[in-house]
Order: sequence, then structure tokens, then C-alpha cells
Amino acid sequence: MSRTAYYWDPISLEHDTGAHAEHMLRADRLRPEKIAHAIDGVAFRPVEPHDTAEWICRIHDRQYHDWVKEVCRSGGGLLDGGDTPASARSYDAALASVDAVLTAADAIMAGELDTAFSAMRPPGHHALPPRAMGFCIFSNVGILVRYLEEKYRIGRLAVVDFDVHHGNGTQHVFWRDPDVLYVSLHQFPLFPGTGAARDEGDGPGLGTTLNIPFSPGTTEGEYLAKFEAKVLPAVDAFGPEFLIISAGFDGHVADPLADLRLTEDGYAWMTRELKSLATEWCQGRIISVLEGGYNLDALVRCVAAHVQALRG
Ligand SMILES: [Zn+2]
Repeated sequence: MSRTAYYWDPISLEHDTGAHAEHMLRADRLRPEKIAHAIDGVAFRPVEPHDTAEWICRIHDRQYHDWVKEVCRSGGGLLDGGDTPASARSYDAALASVDAVLTAADAIMAGELDTAFSAMRPPGHHALPPRAMGFCIFSNVGILVRYLEEKYRIGRLAVVDFDVHHGNGTQHVFWRDPDVLYVSLHQFPLFPGTGAARDEGDGPGLGTTLNIPFSPGTTEGEYLAKFEAKVLPAVDAFGPEFLIISAGFDGHVADPLADLRLTEDGYAWMTRELKSLATEWCQGRIISVLEGGYNLDALVRCVAAHVQALRG
């Protein structure tokens, strides 16, 4: 069994996106008091503040960071063409989403925990250095990687992204980076339209990006077979010191935004397999970060199954 923590903070309820798919009820349904019964033995830990703006600017343009802060301070508005609304408190919520993963990193590197899950919103895997995109404001995972590299001298990291959408923002950040393996499994075609199998990174990073697109209607059996045949050997061959999961649950059969056929059992299976690799390569160290998942009942069941599997 791993020592596992779950991070959630009420600030996630204040990123008010109105009737948008990525809305505050996602955070409400993942409150510790609502999910505790399903994840026995998992610790609920507070999110701690960091020098967060500085860490954000390791990945994002300072001008973009300052603009997001300004838009929110003046009451909110759209951060991109229409997909990413912000309210007065969205900047603080986005900062806390980053803080949650940095807090998890500190606890794991201090030897207090093995695995952690952040149930915070907004998500991050579409966010690009100069702009918001696809419900994402800051690259939670990108910033976490830089934090682990710079503060804790972690040399090789793997990011496995099983959100149903391609994580174009994360891919962009690590496109030329040989020290970070980025693996994305996603429906194609679907937003954001990137993530072709031929896209494998560039320059020194050629070969450390792995894209696995799936046609709409792909069954769980077909998906997991490819996970076993492609993802597990890639992570094993890379030999990371730390494993990060971009955990979106919008590939679930009940999700309204996509057309894959995954179930909570499939997510649990993938998590157990990744955990085995983390035990072998990473001293068991995993941080998993919530991305999408828009059927609320399915989201709660998937998160519970995933976090149970992280604990083991
Ligand atoms: Zn998604």
C-alpha cells in the first residue's frame, strides 16, 4: 500500500464559469466529505501557498500571467475565443490548482507520501505559454515538472495523459525536451485537433513524445490493449524518476463531450499498471492531476477508482 493524499480546496468552487461544461459542480462533487467513504485510507491534506506566480512564469509568458490576473481583478471575462471563461476569483483558483501539485511534490520529496491526486480545477493540459485554451488557464503539469526538476533535481520524468483530448499544451512545453516523456492517449478527430501518431517531438526531444489517437467509438478492450502494447513499454524503456498522470475522465462511456467507451474499471486498471512501473522506476512516486470529466456521476466513480488504485 502507498501513502496517498488527496488535495482539494474550496477555492476551486469560486472559478465561476456559469453554464460551461467545466463548471463548479465538478469541484463540489469531489469535496473530501463527499468522496471520503469511497477512498478509505487516503489522507486529505491542505493546499499550501508557494511562490506560485514565479513558478507559473517558468512555463508561461509573464505578460500572459499578469493579464489573467488583471482580467480577474477587474471582474472576469473570456480568456480565449470562448472556451475559457474567467470570474473574479479564477486567477486565485488557477494559482491554487498549481499550488496543489507543488504541495504534493513537497510532501512526496520529503518522504511523507508516495502518491497524490489533485482534484482541483481549472485543469491545465491545453494551456499554452502565451494563452489560455480549452478550459485551461495555467499548465499545472508543465509547472510541476519544472518544479521537480529545479527544486528537487529530478532528471527524468514521464507524463501519461489519458484525458480524452490531446494535451497540446503539455506536448508543446516538452516538444524538444529529451528529459520528459510525454504520452497522450486521445480521441481523434476531436478538440484540439492535434496529436497525430506521427508527432514524436523534435530536435533533442525527438522520440520523447508519444501520441496514441483513437477513433470515435473505440471500445475499452481496444483502448487498453493499445495502452498495454504501447504506453507501458514506452514508460518502461524511458525509465523515469517520477511519474505524473494527467487524469482526465472524459473518455468514460457516459461522458457528453466525447465518444470513447472507457469505464471506471479501465481507469483503475491503467492506474495499477502505471503504479507498478512507478514502483520499479520512481520509488513509487506518482502525482496525478485532474483534467477533464464532465458526466458528474461518472467523474466521481472514476476519481474514486483511480485514487484507490493509486493507494493500492
Ligand atoms: Zn478532456
